[in-house]
Amino acid sequence: MPSETVTCDVLIVGGGPAGLATAQTLAPHARVLVVHQDREIGRPVRTSGGTFVDDMEALGVPPHLYNTINTLDIRSDNARSLHHLTRRKLAVLDITATYQWLADDARAAGATILTGTKFITTHETAEGYESEIRALGAKDTQTVRSRYIVDASGTPHAVLTALGIDTRPERTGVGIEREFEIISAPKDRAVLFVGGDVRAGYGWIFPAPNNHIRIGVGIIQPDHDISPREVYDTVVTPEFLRAHDLELGPLVQTNAGVIPSVPYAPTLLHGNVIRVGDTANFATPTVGEGIRFAIKYGRVLGAALADTLATGRRTPLERYERECRKAFGKNYRIGFAANRRIATYDAAQWDKSVARIARLNEDEVLDLIRSEFPLRSLARTIVRQGMWKASRVIRTRLAKPQL
Ligand SMILES: Cc1cc2nc3c(=O)[nH]c(=O)nc-3n(C[C@H](O)[C@H](O)[C@H](O)COP(=O)(O)OP(=O)(O)OC[C@H]3O[C@@H](n4cnc5c(N)ncnc54)[C@H](O)[C@@H]3O)c2cc1C
Repeated sequence: MPSETVTCDVLIVGGGPAGLATAQTLAPHARVLVVHQDREIGRPVRTSGGTFVDDMEALGVPPHLYNTINTLDIRSDNARSLHHLTRRKLAVLDITATYQWLADDARAAGATILTGTKFITTHETAEGYESEIRALGAKDTQTVRSRYIVDASGTPHAVLTALGIDTRPERTGVGIEREFEIISAPKDRAVLFVGGDVRAGYGWIFPAPNNHIRIGVGIIQPDHDISPREVYDTVVTPEFLRAHDLELGPLVQTNAGVIPSVPYAPTLLHGNVIRVGDTANFATPTVGEGIRFAIKYGRVLGAALADTLATGRRTPLERYERECRKAFGKNYRIGFAANRRIATYDAAQWDKSVARIARLNEDEVLDLIRSEFPLRSLARTIVRQGMWKASRVIRTRLAKPQL
């Protein structure tokens, strides 16, 4: 027996940070339904949670939800770039607790969140959209009528695919990570490792809250036809742990995820279907960091949609699209060129690259990690290297960013 039809103003597909943040600012002004296919918000974990303290402060994320990192250590087979962070600290989030905190805020604002419920398909109607959702284990689907749909499903692009607007990206970063209790390890040092067996991507060691540490590797597919699990098992050996001063306790959980690795596409509005988060390719092309953007622009989208619903005007949504294009367009063009380039690096090229990074100052390294290529760093190059050399550097950087 099909169950009764639900009606709302906005259906949000995906209860990750983008969908939950959108719900949070929209729900005080509209009837919002979030459907999330996993049984629980924030579990299983599909990300490693590296971010920045100042961004978390600006977003109001409470400090007990992250561990502060003071040292960034970038290593290849034969080179090392060690940076003590004085101006901008890194942070590693407790993912489950952070996403549940976002969900609590969205519920408190009035959103209904259905976990264990999958969006199946949708079609357009005269009033908006009629979508089918299904609860885990249920035989029948349920119908949801909404004026708008937000596609916050991440890599699957579930809504866009159902409407034939777009498909799941073919090029992706695929990661696996193991989270352990710490017996002994530096708790304020994050490591990024490249080259050797991880040259098809990169690896990380992230000390997390609750005396946990996450060790992971990510590979770009289909550029490399190798599974991250194989790479992890080859790389993370007892010698590796000794080399990084790690003494691990019991395995807490294994985390795995997939992220789009394609150029930024600035069109975010497709009729009354709107993209946000990984579905909109907001994560940085250099290291695939997307949580702070999912939260920040999710909230911007929620506020814009509330405005559009109240006034009947599309201008606020168009402003959201423009604001995102301004934030990501140029930087991600440069960052994606770097992404393409480093995906082909061999071990020797990684050694050279890490040696170059070792010569950068703290701001320049973090700009690279954040996929920010501001005029100030080009200006610094002019001062350091002289006008003539700099103009050559600028031209080559724009064509092929130097990592
Ligand atoms: C291995 C890995 C490591 C990463 N490391 C970092 C990092 O260190 N720092 C950082 O900032 N970012 C990192 N990222 C990126 C970050 O995880 C994403 O940018 C962020 O999660 C995007 O949030 P989102 O809400 O758009 O999508 P998601 O977090 O993917 O959330 C979307 C949710 O929608 C649900 N969903 C999908 N389809 C349906 C459907 N049909 N019906 C209902 N629900 C559905 C999914 O279950 C999912 O939970 C990493 C990603 C990966 C894969």
